[in-house]
Amino acid sequence: MRARLALLAAATCLAGTAQAATIYPLDRATILVGSPFDFKVELDSVYAAGDVEVTVNGEAYSDAFGNEAEFVSDEKGKDDASLGSALILRDLTLGEAGDYTVAVKAGDETKEVTWTVYDTPETPKAKNIIFFVADGMSMGHRSAARIMSKGMTEGKADGRLSMDDLDHMATIGTSSTHSVATDSANTMSAYMTGHKTRVNALGVYADRTPDSQDDPKVETMAEALRRQTGKSIGVVSTAEIEDATPAAVVAHTRLRADKADIVGMFYDVKPEVVLGGGSAYFLKSDVPGSKRKDDNDYIAMFQDAGYTVVTSADELASAEKTEDGKLLGLFHTGNMDSTLDRKFLKTGSVEKFPNQPGLVDMTTAAIEQLSKNPEGFFLMVEAANVDKMSHPLDWDRAVVDMIEFDQAIGAAMEWMNSNPDTLIVVTGDHTHGFSVIGTIDDEVEADEMRNKVMTYDDAGFPNYTDENGDGYPDKVDVSRRLAMFANNFPDYYETFRPKLDGPFEPAVKDENGRYVANEAYKDVPGAVLRTGNLPYNASTGVHAVDDVLLQATGPGAEGFKGYMEQSDVYEVLADTFALGNSQKQ
Ligand SMILES: [Zn+2]
Repeated sequence: MRARLALLAAATCLAGTAQAATIYPLDRATILVGSPFDFKVELDSVYAAGDVEVTVNGEAYSDAFGNEAEFVSDEKGKDDASLGSALILRDLTLGEAGDYTVAVKAGDETKEVTWTVYDTPETPKAKNIIFFVADGMSMGHRSAARIMSKGMTEGKADGRLSMDDLDHMATIGTSSTHSVATDSANTMSAYMTGHKTRVNALGVYADRTPDSQDDPKVETMAEALRRQTGKSIGVVSTAEIEDATPAAVVAHTRLRADKADIVGMFYDVKPEVVLGGGSAYFLKSDVPGSKRKDDNDYIAMFQDAGYTVVTSADELASAEKTEDGKLLGLFHTGNMDSTLDRKFLKTGSVEKFPNQPGLVDMTTAAIEQLSKNPEGFFLMVEAANVDKMSHPLDWDRAVVDMIEFDQAIGAAMEWMNSNPDTLIVVTGDHTHGFSVIGTIDDEVEADEMRNKVMTYDDAGFPNYTDENGDGYPDKVDVSRRLAMFANNFPDYYETFRPKLDGPFEPAVKDENGRYVANEAYKDVPGAVLRTGNLPYNASTGVHAVDDVLLQATGPGAEGFKGYMEQSDVYEVLADTFALGNSQKQ
């Protein structure tokens, strides 16, 4: 199939049929009025500058945009290969709302795109926004968290999650500009810029040149807040703080893996509160454990910029009481441990990092700190391990993290009671192919574990308990537990049991570089080999294309309804804060 397409493409080239130029922002982009972005035209052939015609609503682009673009006669690809001519105009702003049709003509190449530039009301609807993301959160995660945390009797939940009481909702499409499938970089970037982009990209459209940081930029939420408001900014995550989801609040790069540079991007924006893991990228290269290649000591640089730096839950708690200034908390060199590891089993890397705060602690500390600003704040909170534990099919860890995520939402909703000028948004950035299908009942007499998987009427209800009323099951390895499975996986041994020794590692690389079932689980009684349905380069399960559910409450929440593209969410946030008004322009 692929070979045939290539042949067809070659044939059309030979026949001299029109090639298509690419224009960034892409067709149907929605752009906040006054928000700077880079305009780029990529042509497939080399032209003289005078042979490229670009118009905007029929007018010469340089008149319409009030500026001349840089003309690159021949962009270079890998190994200096010719890519064709390009036009680049950086930091363009459009001060008037409306539709802009950009047309390009050069030789046989033509392309036309239409952008919609939108403005917002003059008056903000809310003073604060708290944007909660459980990375990878799917409907199954919500259901499992509710059942595990609250219980169920005769088919009705014995209690509600905090997120169950958010009164507005929308289903959100998460696909990326080049694929139905998606990752946390482009999904969260769409939420935080209003522009969809390509897998791995943050705050840029993914252009064709190899340099990961020359791509056409769009404004991030943090930059828009700095440009238009005096609000404080907070970024909280249980991942490395440079990881794709938290990075999307501030970063511009084609490659989410540019983590050392992303620390610099945090430093440029200086969010007032930054809490998470990932200290390895803040340490200069000669410090043991550093993942930097340069001598920038970002811990010292943030301190010099007035930040209090904390590295443990205890330090965070005392900083919260005394600190008026900016707060940088780095509690792990890498990703922080899952709640099940950190709080209950003391597995994972908890022995090495025994004093990590949880998401509730970090969320309340951030709100406490940020709410000192009379102008208000924007806070992004990510529960990263819902995704990071769903990849290796470690459902108990993912779901217990969901419960903690919900408790962080509960803490924010309680704060909101006395601060009603706050919009709370709760969503995932993408989904996983994960479902709850019934229960697994150890008491059932069966020769094989799979025959203890109870479905339909046989499933009954699980027997988790919560004697101490902390909202978490007293243990996850109860005798009748949720049967949770993924629809996509590498080869692995299904054990039908929670992984009490530490996070699950379903597959490992063999001598041919292919991922095969991890033999470490082969001898778990009743384990069965499941032959994967993913390519052999997949070490874990992958993201699903299914819509995510977004819920919200507070002023502005009425903007979320029906089906929305991920990029549309930004417009509701911009509207809520009146980021497209003319007051500060
Ligand atoms: Zn993921």
